[in-house]
Amino acid sequence: MITVFNCIVGKHNLALVFVAVLVCLFGSAVALRLLRRAVPAAGAQRLGWRFLAAVAGGGGVWATHFVAMLAYEPPAPTSIDPALTILSLVISMAGLFASFLVSGIRASEAFPALGGAMAGLSFSAMHYTGMMAYRVIGLVEWQLDYVVASILLPVACSAVSVALIGQRYVGTRRFWAAVTLLVSGIVSLHFTAMTAFRVTPMAQSFPQIDARAVVALGLAIAVVALIILGMGLASYLIDTNVRADSEQRLRHMASHDPLTGLPNRASLGEFLASSFREARDRNEKFSVICMDLNRFKEINDTLGHSAGDDALRILARRMTQSLEGGEFMARLGGDEFAAVKRIGDRSEVAAFADRLAGVFNRPVRVGSTEAQVKASIGTAIWPDDAKDVDELLNNADLAMNHAKHACLDTVCFYDAGIGASERKRRKLAEALRQALELEHLDLHYQVQKSLTSGAIHGYEALLRWNHPQFGTIPPSEFIPVAEENGLITPLGAWVLRRACQDAAAWEPPYRVAVNVSAIQLMDANLPRLFHQVLMETGLPPHRLELELTETALIRDKAGSLHIMRQIKALGIGVSLDDFGSGYSSLETLRSFPFDKIKLDRAFVEGIEHDRQSRAIVRAVLALGKCLEIPVLAEGIETEDQMAVLRAEGCDEGQGYLLGRPAPVADLAREGGPIRKGDREPQQASAQRSKA
Ligand code: C2E
Ligand code: MG
Ligand code: MG
Repeated sequence: MITVFNCIVGKHNLALVFVAVLVCLFGSAVALRLLRRAVPAAGAQRLGWRFLAAVAGGGGVWATHFVAMLAYEPPAPTSIDPALTILSLVISMAGLFASFLVSGIRASEAFPALGGAMAGLSFSAMHYTGMMAYRVIGLVEWQLDYVVASILLPVACSAVSVALIGQRYVGTRRFWAAVTLLVSGIVSLHFTAMTAFRVTPMAQSFPQIDARAVVALGLAIAVVALIILGMGLASYLIDTNVRADSEQRLRHMASHDPLTGLPNRASLGEFLASSFREARDRNEKFSVICMDLNRFKEINDTLGHSAGDDALRILARRMTQSLEGGEFMARLGGDEFAAVKRIGDRSEVAAFADRLAGVFNRPVRVGSTEAQVKASIGTAIWPDDAKDVDELLNNADLAMNHAKHACLDTVCFYDAGIGASERKRRKLAEALRQALELEHLDLHYQVQKSLTSGAIHGYEALLRWNHPQFGTIPPSEFIPVAEENGLITPLGAWVLRRACQDAAAWEPPYRVAVNVSAIQLMDANLPRLFHQVLMETGLPPHRLELELTETALIRDKAGSLHIMRQIKALGIGVSLDDFGSGYSSLETLRSFPFDKIKLDRAFVEGIEHDRQSRAIVRAVLALGKCLEIPVLAEGIETEDQMAVLRAEGCDEGQGYLLGRPAPVADLAREGGPIRKGDREPQQASAQRSKA
């Protein structure tokens, strides 16, 4: 074997053999890389990658062959047939393309090996066609056993090589094993085939062939093949770059908010985790500041969502510009932002928060209007306020929520008291959500009577929530919670439906008044809900009244007026609740078409002995008379209060003296309405008790 090897290698120029092996290695690596790239691709891309692999691989093998032939030092003069040379290139590329197509068939695991074996065959076909192009002036003999070996060796090596690449993405080690096998197959093909090739030189009388022409042709072939290889490699590199770019873009998209370009919640998590590790290792502190824009929904609702987006973009840009070295800012979603800063003491957090708050002092220009957007800001510090990153973020959020409820316009620092009250609020919100789902809520009704005749005019529906754990929770506590987290919409709908159902069954048919929150009034679907509920329950519209507070109206005057008009157009009455408790009551009365004024109970409270209260009540009653709007006095608790109100000419009243809020079933006992279906049994029982 060694003798054979020495004999064959001995007939070659070793430097050129080395070049041939290098070309072979390069060609095989590029071809298999392109083939590997085809594995995850689909459709035309998959075909394209296989084609490029075949062009590069075929060109590489072909160049190897010709450089090796240049290295071969024949004992006789030689020449090269150009047509057959080109044919051998076509065979190499076309054969490899067919092989790679077969290797990609997904029907069975055997196809890659089969394709690889075909590649080996096409290498042999290329080699022997190339040999036919190699014209030697002498007697040529072929040794059959070496010829057979020269076919079997590349077939076996290529089959295993392509099978290693397979139909899944392979790692570096497996890839280079495949390259080594392919190179071995090609090199062994050349050397065994050249061993099979024996030349006996003829007489010296034959004309000498110009060896320089052969070398020039060979070099030209090698250059062409290298260009082909280069193209294959370049396309691979371009693709890799494009992929790297798009991966980077995807990574950016995954870690940044598309609207403002700020890092998103996931990035904040990563930044917090690294800040935490650094602060712990260096024994430092860091703070998280949470910010939530106040009444941002109103901008969206009144100016439109694209104006809201503009405002967010502008504010995010301003905040980013206000950042200094080492400070980090992210958008958590909606109108929520968070910032992180490594600090020495609390004053640094306060200064940072003030700098951020300064951004909200300037109005934001959206479209043709200028909007003043403020933010509630809360902060928590590690390690003072939290053990870990999650707790820190949560506590900063609790502090921010506290700032929002307490309407603070400075940053709120987290402390245990704030944490406890905010956690209770969150629990309450969760419990309320459940209570609504499980219908654990109830309605009580409080009578509204004529102060002159004592006749019942109607009832106000008041929501009641008796929680098994927290006990009775007053509406003044849970309604604001429901307003904060959007629960007020389903809650309000539930109240309306239930009140209308109850009232529809009342005998006599008294009116029912339902309280509507400010948040509900911002919903353009509210009139449709009223209409739908009236249709469902069969309650005539004139028997329904809605009670609005001033705060509900002044947030968005034009929008509220529009919704209110639509509701009134259905035939439903609208009364102004808690009149006098707001700050521009007279203006509200002028702008909105109310059917009734409900005078706040604060004015009734001291009316018997307080001259000022009495004067105010008198003025309101006079105002009602002038505007021809009846006035109902709320919170009448004593006979004296009622006597004064009567003397002043008040039309209607409501209060504990006239009747406390009570469940619907108890109303009949106080002389109120009975449910239609209940009349017979009640009359029967009355007759039974008489008997
Ligand atoms: P409001 O609409 O002004 O309702 C009258 C409140 O005054 C009721 O308190 C009632 O129990 C209380 N009240 C009635 N007479 C007297 C009295 O003589 N003295 C005193 N001290 N209080 C009296 P409640 O039920 O606690 O409701 C408080 C507020 O919660 C209501 O004020 C209303 O603004 C809101 N609310 C109640 N139910 C609902 C509801 O279903 N939806 C909405 N959005 N708000 C509701
Ligand atoms: Mg009310
Ligand atoms: Mg009221």
